[in-house]
Amino acid sequence: MSQNIESKVVIITGASSGIGAATARLLASRGAAVVLAARRADKLEALAAEIRAAGGKAEAVVTDVTRADDLQALVATAQRVFGRVDVLINNAGLMSIAPLTELKVDEWERMIDINIKGVLYGIAAALPVFQQQGSGHFINVASVAGLKVFSPGGTVYSGTKFAVRAISEGLRHEVGGSIRTTTIEPGAVDSELKLGSSHEQSSAFVKDFYKIAIPADAVARAIAYAIEQPADVDINEIVLRPTVQEF
Ligand code: NDP
Repeated sequence: MSQNIESKVVIITGASSGIGAATARLLASRGAAVVLAARRADKLEALAAEIRAAGGKAEAVVTDVTRADDLQALVATAQRVFGRVDVLINNAGLMSIAPLTELKVDEWERMIDINIKGVLYGIAAALPVFQQQGSGHFINVASVAGLKVFSPGGTVYSGTKFAVRAISEGLRHEVGGSIRTTTIEPGAVDSELKLGSSHEQSSAFVKDFYKIAIPADAVARAIAYAIEQPADVDINEIVLRPTVQEF
């Protein structure tokens, strides 16, 4: 158990795989009560059962982050089951890589809906709760593709991650004082993210690029570091990459 993580109630979107699932396992092992959100109920229930079997606290809540109402219901469920919300990790995401000239407009919209609007809906749901409590912590998962334009192919994905950084910094500036805001910017991490591209050549490129990926647990540890700081310390940004990654 670790101080400042133990007994905290942590909501994690995109908890059914990759970074979200790894973060849920790590935080639960350190005594947090975790609220697992994503669309795949079977994956969430299996992870919640695994965490409970290990002596942890977990609740699964099927959530589509493109629906503002789902985020409201998610936060309300966390409050009902565990009494409060200390941290919201806006982690759900989609990476569909293709050159702009392929005009994959549907994929642009899905990335904007999940990666940007999903984060905003999470903020809309948790912010009033954090303000009422006089404390809370937003952790938004952006990317190194939010620091540099990942082009050709990742232009729209990069656009969504630049937006997450901008929104996070504005949020910090507007509501800081008692509410903490952390942006996590990972490089290549092993997860299902690399499977999100329908453009054949881009998909092959991504899978090859991801041979250098580091385990999702590396990001989970960075998130835990931000949470475990004392309440008067706000870790605003963490960038982490595989040591061998150039981009
Ligand atoms: P995964 O594809 O493994 O996980 C993505 C998660 O998001 C899944 O749990 C998925 O669950 C969930 N998700 C997708 N769409 C929705 C939706 N509409 N509503 C709710 N949940 C949804 O990838 P990662 O773990 O790698 O990704 C997590 C975050 O990390 C993303 O924001 C990604 O952009 C970011 N990131 C990842 C990097 C990497 O190299 N892996 C690098 C930098 C950033 P389900 O399908 O069950 O809904």
